[in-house]
Amino acid sequence: MLKKLLLLVILSGFTLSAQDYFVQKYKPFTAEIPSPETFLGYAIGEHHTRHDLIVAYLEKLAELSDRASIEEYGRTHEGRKLVMLTVTSPKNLNNLNNLREAHLAFTDPKQKVSNYNEVPIFINLAYNVHGNEPSSSEAALLTAYSLVASQNPEILKYLDNAVIFIDPTINPDGRDRHTQWVNTYQGSPEVADPQDAEHNEYWPMGRTNHYWFDLNRDWLLAINPESRGKLKWYHQWYPNVVTDFHEMGTQSTYFFEPMKTNASFDPIMPKENYEDLNTLFGNEFAKSLDSIGSLYFTKEVFDGTYPGYGSSYPDLQGGLGLLFEQASSRGHRQTTAFGEITFAFTIRNQYVSGLTTVKTAVDNKDIMRKYQQDFFKSALTNATKNKVKGYLFGDTHDQNRTKAFIDKLLLHKVEVYRSGNRFAVPTQQPQYRMVQTMFETYEKYRDSVYYDASAWSVANFYNMKYRPVNNLDLGEKISTTQELIKLEPVSKSSYAYIMDWDDYNAPAALYYLQQKGIIASSAAKPFSVRVNKDNKSFNYGAVLIPVSLQKVDGTSIHQMITEAQEKFNVPFYAVNSGLSDNGIDLGSGNISPIKQPKAVMLIGNGVRSYEAGEVWHLLDTRVHMPITKVPMRNFNKLNLDKYTSLVMVSGQYNFTKNQIEKIKQWTEKGNTLVTIGSASKWAIDKKIVQEELIAKEKDSTQIAVRKPYVDARENIGKESIGGVILKVDLDITHPLSYGYRDNQLPVYKNNSVWLAPSKNPYATVAKYAEDPHIDGFITKKNMAEHIMNSASLIVSKVGKGRAVLFADNPNFRGSWYGTNRLFLNALFLGDKINVPSQD
Ligand SMILES: [Zn+2]
Repeated sequence: MLKKLLLLVILSGFTLSAQDYFVQKYKPFTAEIPSPETFLGYAIGEHHTRHDLIVAYLEKLAELSDRASIEEYGRTHEGRKLVMLTVTSPKNLNNLNNLREAHLAFTDPKQKVSNYNEVPIFINLAYNVHGNEPSSSEAALLTAYSLVASQNPEILKYLDNAVIFIDPTINPDGRDRHTQWVNTYQGSPEVADPQDAEHNEYWPMGRTNHYWFDLNRDWLLAINPESRGKLKWYHQWYPNVVTDFHEMGTQSTYFFEPMKTNASFDPIMPKENYEDLNTLFGNEFAKSLDSIGSLYFTKEVFDGTYPGYGSSYPDLQGGLGLLFEQASSRGHRQTTAFGEITFAFTIRNQYVSGLTTVKTAVDNKDIMRKYQQDFFKSALTNATKNKVKGYLFGDTHDQNRTKAFIDKLLLHKVEVYRSGNRFAVPTQQPQYRMVQTMFETYEKYRDSVYYDASAWSVANFYNMKYRPVNNLDLGEKISTTQELIKLEPVSKSSYAYIMDWDDYNAPAALYYLQQKGIIASSAAKPFSVRVNKDNKSFNYGAVLIPVSLQKVDGTSIHQMITEAQEKFNVPFYAVNSGLSDNGIDLGSGNISPIKQPKAVMLIGNGVRSYEAGEVWHLLDTRVHMPITKVPMRNFNKLNLDKYTSLVMVSGQYNFTKNQIEKIKQWTEKGNTLVTIGSASKWAIDKKIVQEELIAKEKDSTQIAVRKPYVDARENIGKESIGGVILKVDLDITHPLSYGYRDNQLPVYKNNSVWLAPSKNPYATVAKYAEDPHIDGFITKKNMAEHIMNSASLIVSKVGKGRAVLFADNPNFRGSWYGTNRLFLNALFLGDKINVPSQD
């Protein structure tokens, strides 16, 4: 790096230090504030900087300077700090609470304020959401240094007119995974050869967080602590401009907004956002990048249709989200078709764009503020025009799933009201656009090739039965979910306890008890018994815990049951007789013991890390049940007999015949193979199961068709399924469906795995419904030829065992609370499926 700079110095004929390569425009700098180079002991770009050092540097700035303060807004799964450095003039910093109040007045449609130019503009410079796109966090250090230490009049003007929030690393766990990799393999001299290990990370790579989630999809879904902390911060400050820095393929240049046009016909964000503001900022980015000779492009790619990106969520909060994509050096130096790209070069482009964002926001303070004010005012006027006055929802059988959905609404500051077990969300509220995002569904699009999902009506993710209403009786406003579930203490029984299997947390409560050695059974048929003085009916899958079968005394059992109820908020009922009022009795042959599941999942090269991470996350954070993750390279050593279930998510499984036979023989012994997406296709292709895929239709035309080359991407792309919500018809009597009371269930499809319904009439658990479209883009061809003929979930007998084949991912992005149960049933109740065969 230094050598390269020296060369640059000789070529350009003046002296330029490593530091000056980035920041010389903003000289002079206060000597009391250490530069990143001084603090770290190496020049920016020479190594990748660990997250703890990034935090330490920002803490140092806050300690030394009266322009900066720092706060922690959360911790990652791995315990790393999520921090926000606030930088502004000392005068503004001392007056921050008042400034915040003055700023928030513009987000409140009830307040009539017009001092647009008097309040500093609020800017959130956010960096490095994808851990292995590392240039921007290094730019964050240089940006923080420039703002804190420069005495240049340009910077002083920014500080007087803006409050700048620097979030240096949105995804520290992923960043450190990548940092460790590239620093480990860095050569001296550096190796620019793209085939070097430094430029080729190993699975699961650093893009994602601890559970391999893409945090740049999580802003809307808010599953991970990184996004939850950020959203809580966000709704305290409502920044006017938010940056989102990324890297793309090495053989590219630089991208900034405007993006490709939003794919929805009528996007819910105001058109001024992308027509006026993006152009205004884009022109300034062009000028700055021109001045340092960097190439770039706009508009061609990256649509912001999905509202859960870091660059689209702010657009739904009256701000301007800005996406930047830098060609990646993936390592410190790499050979490209254009020559060589260095880490320092990528950092400089991000640095320049960051400070240009500040400059443009400051220069257009009044426009940005008025825009945000109009945004929230228009939310109310748009809502007035809507016939729908609100949405009603709630599921009395599953309070924890309902609670999780309400938690999501509240996190986005959507107003929720309660009347008994019914919840209401009015459309008439400042967050009307979030209400639309959560509940409205679409089927008309201007475009057909998406960068991501085309469906995100979150209510459907949660299988919330909801309905729009034209007049609304609100009830009492709720501000927290903490007291939402109130359960009666479980009374003591000397006979048995019963838990419904309907609640989202029931598997977690069951696993908790199983771990303590409690023997529990599952009911294959409904029944009703006396609970206290009332008659209570229980659904398919109710869990029975008979007192006499346990190894511990009645008092201990009662205590454990009480703990399980308190910990997971799932009701347990004490019963004193085995004779039912209706349906099967408690000693029936239709009630059988549930084995404690022991699950193993294959991971590693070829396996789709997102799907594997979703399984891991579900079991860890919601069921509190361990799953053993075995890298594919260790498959030959794996003793499968220790497990009851093997999970294979989508991926490339290049197994030998013997390895396939190993899986098949283990399944035949009575175990459960659970496959998702392309792994289901694999199980059929490799004949582990006797099932079929919907055959690809033969091309009926014999004459070769010619089409313009330029349309190829569009034509081919539209037949792939970016993400669509479909309705299935569920057999609620099947063990895989225990816990569901309604046979209509939304599922998420984002692949082209088309399972033929099983020939066994009892084995197609979920088939797409007659009229399956709920939300999102799908071609008529896909609908007619594939969806209408195929199944979403089937079970197939394999010797004494079975394979559970999911065509669709039941755990998508950790937010499909509605379909998680199907997957968990496969683990907990797999051996209850004794598929009766026809022959
Ligand atoms: Zn990215």
